[in-house]
Amino acid sequence: MFVYLLLPIFPMGCFLVPRRRQTAGLLLLVLAVSLTLPLSPTRAQEGDGALKETSLELLSDRALTPLGKAALSIRPAEWKHAESANFVYHFFHSFIAAPVSVEAEFYYRVIARELEKDTTQWERKCHIYVFEEAADWAEFQKRGSLDPWTGGIHAAGSLFIRRDPQVKWKGSTLGHEVAHLVVERFFGAGVPLWLNEGYAEYAAARCYAAFHRARGYGARPASRAVPEGMYVPVGQLTARLSYPDDVAQVGVFYSESERLVRFLSAADQRGFGTMFAALAKGARFETALAKGFGGRFMNLEALDREFRSYAIHANAAPIPN
Ligand SMILES: [Zn+2]
Repeated sequence: MFVYLLLPIFPMGCFLVPRRRQTAGLLLLVLAVSLTLPLSPTRAQEGDGALKETSLELLSDRALTPLGKAALSIRPAEWKHAESANFVYHFFHSFIAAPVSVEAEFYYRVIARELEKDTTQWERKCHIYVFEEAADWAEFQKRGSLDPWTGGIHAAGSLFIRRDPQVKWKGSTLGHEVAHLVVERFFGAGVPLWLNEGYAEYAAARCYAAFHRARGYGARPASRAVPEGMYVPVGQLTARLSYPDDVAQVGVFYSESERLVRFLSAADQRGFGTMFAALAKGARFETALAKGFGGRFMNLEALDREFRSYAIHANAAPIPN
């Protein structure tokens, strides 16, 4: 089970600037930008509402996990159901579920392509449970015995998220969970915790920004620096088998893991892919590092020295799109 932090505790994701709300003084800039960016609704946006509601009995895939059944046992008469090419949705309002379906399919396709995986090889659909009310989510956390800081979950191939109708920018939780889904489907369950969470953070922030850029917003992915005094050496970070007990350290674990993925991807994207595959097959960190990066890092200590300054500096990261 891989989870996502509750957003109000650790705001994450990317910065969004609505291009449609530029001030009059920036009119010329807006005109210039409008020549290259879609300021009117795109074809994808026009299809955002196209999600046909159906009944639970008529879904093409009705295999519910125990956690899925626990979700549907909360206000059981009010859940609605629908599906798209790769996902089945359980939700309360279609105006909340429709954008989720557009985002989920986008993230799934983009992340699988980045990891060089062919999604047509996986025929079964993934169930996404979309909560809205804080009280319902809290009840679900209780019934599922989840940590109170959990903001979203990927468990046994199903996703559970909360979308607050009052919040305009929904954040990167969905992209984070879809990244876990892609990783588990195509690399199996043996991917180490730091890599699973670090890659999910890294992919989600970039996908969230890309999704909104395609809809006319100025958006760039963000990455959190690790507070200097809380930096954990790479050897310890990558050896973790479970989340830290202390909630502040949980936040550092996510940030530092994301920074390590970002650092290694920027150093050599192909090498990072080779390392990812080796780790998924059970290689030790140093073995996988040598396999992916050859002599680029002499040893774990050399990597740690170089990575530490990258991890703790706010602007140290070259952020690829
Ligand atoms: Zn996660």
